[in-house]
Amino acid sequence: MNPITEKQEKFIQENIGFFTEKLLELAQIPAPSNHEEKRAAWIKALLESFGCEGVYTDEALNVVYPYNCEGADEIYVLSAHTDVVFPDTQPLPLVKDGDIIRCPGIGDDTANAMAVITMAKYMAENKPAVKRGIIFSLVSGEEGLGNLKGTRKLMETWGEKVKGFVTLDTAYGGMVNGAVGSTRYEITVTEQGGHSFGNFGRPNAIAELAQIITELFLIRVPVKEGTKTTFNVGTITGGTSVNTIPQTATCLYEYRSDDLACLTYMKSCFEAVIAKAAALYGKVDVKVVGERPCANVCGEKQDAWIKMLLDAQNVYADREIVPRHSSTDCNIPLSLGIPSGSVGTFVCSGAHTRQEWLDTTSIPRALHTVMCLLNSWLA
Ligand SMILES: [Zn+2]
Repeated sequence: MNPITEKQEKFIQENIGFFTEKLLELAQIPAPSNHEEKRAAWIKALLESFGCEGVYTDEALNVVYPYNCEGADEIYVLSAHTDVVFPDTQPLPLVKDGDIIRCPGIGDDTANAMAVITMAKYMAENKPAVKRGIIFSLVSGEEGLGNLKGTRKLMETWGEKVKGFVTLDTAYGGMVNGAVGSTRYEITVTEQGGHSFGNFGRPNAIAELAQIITELFLIRVPVKEGTKTTFNVGTITGGTSVNTIPQTATCLYEYRSDDLACLTYMKSCFEAVIAKAAALYGKVDVKVVGERPCANVCGEKQDAWIKMLLDAQNVYADREIVPRHSSTDCNIPLSLGIPSGSVGTFVCSGAHTRQEWLDTTSIPRALHTVMCLLNSWLA
């Protein structure tokens, strides 16, 4: 692993102020999954202000800065996602509290997005020679029902030329080296409904959906060494009023696994529950609202890639970093056989809650780590 050069050290020192100032701006821009327009426009303008050439926004609302990619046969990707889990369309509330910044989405993944932007700034200002093309991408749709839309689009555009993928996601110490696949469903039961007193006895959509959920919770997840399989019902809605027999009830259900055979097993169990329900009840509609593939890469290529990522982190880490499997933007390149990993860089906590915070004293280490990682791609 190449250590950071003096020039890079100077760049980092000179840009910590820039990083922090822009982080405060970006963090407040709302970006619910599938509505990242405002962040995309802000990021594109910022990248262009450093002189990044060839920056484009695609229809998935990714902002992409390809560096030396024209004619390149091999490309590496440094990515972070712009969307947050919060539906807010007004500026996200931000509070500075000493060294702590409190803001929903600050660590997942806004600070990481700023780290990618800062590396793009370094490239544009210094124009270092590279071994391969490098794509700096700020992608959409990583969270929830975004369904990894941004990374899917990125891979569709750059395809087979991509030989390695890194996403900066979540907190320092969190590293992902494998994919957890999942399938997400919206289940809706529809019945005739009616007055709770006058039409008593008619089928009740909420009661029927509750039965379906009970059946789903009777599914035993497969036990297979070295793998993990889970399921969840995350939301439930329906009904009109306390004195109305509900006409509809809907829930969101998912199962996840880092093993393809276990995912397939969960699918067959799910389908059996739905088939039984459809025979017993009124109208049962199932819509797949998300599908994240499992990994399709392993062995030496992936191991070497993960080692490269770990080496960069270990230069600055103050504790051992143990990679794990998770669901991240890496699912898409991994499913295509492209070595991929996710690296957490900043000290932050409370991801996916409104109490999320980030410790600004971790900014220098984070930038050093990402620069060190980038360094292994420079000529
Ligand atoms: Zn994230």
